[in-house]
Amino acid sequence: MATDVLIVGGGPVGLYLAASLLQDGVGVRVLEQRQSRNMHTRAIGIHPPALEALHGIQVASSAVRDGVRIRYGMAVRGGRSVGTMSFAGVSAAFPFVLALPQFRTEELLEERVNHLDGDAIVRGVRASEVKDDGGRVTVVGHAGHQRVEFEASLVVAADGARSRVRDLLGVPVRARNYADHYLMGDFQDPGLNAGTAVLFLEPGGIVESFPLPDGVRRWVVRLGRPAGGAGPDQLAALVRERTGVFPDAGTNTMLSAFSVRSTLARRMVAGRVVLIGDAAHEISPIGGQGMNLGWLDAQALSPLIRATLSGGRPDNVERLFKEFDAGRRKAALLARRQSEINMLLGRPLPGPLLTLRNLGISAAAATPAVNRWVARRFTMQ
Ligand SMILES: Cc1cc2nc3c(=O)[nH]c(=O)nc-3n(C[C@H](O)[C@H](O)[C@H](O)COP(=O)(O)OP(=O)(O)OC[C@H]3O[C@@H](n4cnc5c(N)ncnc54)[C@H](O)[C@@H]3O)c2cc1C
Repeated sequence: MATDVLIVGGGPVGLYLAASLLQDGVGVRVLEQRQSRNMHTRAIGIHPPALEALHGIQVASSAVRDGVRIRYGMAVRGGRSVGTMSFAGVSAAFPFVLALPQFRTEELLEERVNHLDGDAIVRGVRASEVKDDGGRVTVVGHAGHQRVEFEASLVVAADGARSRVRDLLGVPVRARNYADHYLMGDFQDPGLNAGTAVLFLEPGGIVESFPLPDGVRRWVVRLGRPAGGAGPDQLAALVRERTGVFPDAGTNTMLSAFSVRSTLARRMVAGRVVLIGDAAHEISPIGGQGMNLGWLDAQALSPLIRATLSGGRPDNVERLFKEFDAGRRKAALLARRQSEINMLLGRPLPGPLLTLRNLGISAAAATPAVNRWVARRFTMQ
């Protein structure tokens, strides 16, 4: 089968790019190895620049309809507020961070892609070979035992952190592992701090808490070692021990333990294949930037693809791709640095240092200009 652009990976980033290209009349096929959606809720935070990108593909209004608008972030220690950050000034159109489970976001993106072209998403095909002859790219995949072949002018790998396409192209990655481990789970919201994200800066380590749709609240607890086989009871007990709030373990709907690493591909463009999203850069989930960053890659890539397909001057197109590669890898480095600051903030500290740090946060939050600056950095601006 031949198409203009073949996207490998139908996660949030691949689906976003597909919608963006289809609505401009570009022929697209998306190969997705999974037959059905991953219902595990991973990303929840959508920042204003990404909401603007979603607006461009007509998905923002349904996302905002289904999500929770987080207008404030609050830092708490020992039951008392240390400081509050407002997102009111971060964007005229979207003055909030939107909380929406990733599977719902993906559903909305998929609906948009299907509306534009009901045949665009090809499920159950795992890409396993890539051949770039300089003019066209051939991707070989398997649907069960059946071998299938696709040909395209350009291939975009949005196949996630363990990208097979990246490995096939031999693009090296720089990886970092961190001594930060987390246990997270979704519980019924006891109704405290409605619509507000709360960071509990406690001596035993940070606890983060975010509102989700349908009266659910996500709790994330930092641990000094992997959580092993901990269950909802252990997570609820840890939250209580550190914050005094006791989520009802019986209402738990999702539980996940994860350790943190980051990876950055040494290049995002290899011939006629482009890496975007987690395939190009995996960022620590703390701070919630990975999916947002991937959408911003796709938003930047879309016009370059159109320029290439419409026969733009090769030297001009090459320069644009070089700029894309440098610009998006710089954005990924910035996001990684921000996530490292977020993780640092959550590490346990002995009493005097903790007090000093919290006083610093208090002073920063009380200074409007600093408050605004931090809010903008936190929301990827
Ligand atoms: C606990 C946790 C919390 C997070 N919270 C946030 C957050 O709040 N905000 C945020 O922005 N980010 C967050 N992230 C990160 C976010 O989930 C990822 O950045 C995002 O999923 C990346 O999207 P992607 O489309 O690039 O890759 P993926 O979501 O990994 O999608 C890749 C897709 O490619 C498919 N695929 C893989 N290989 C092949 C192949 N060979 N052939 C065909 N298909 C293939 C996979 O099945 C998958 O569907 C979080 C991550 C975790 C783990």
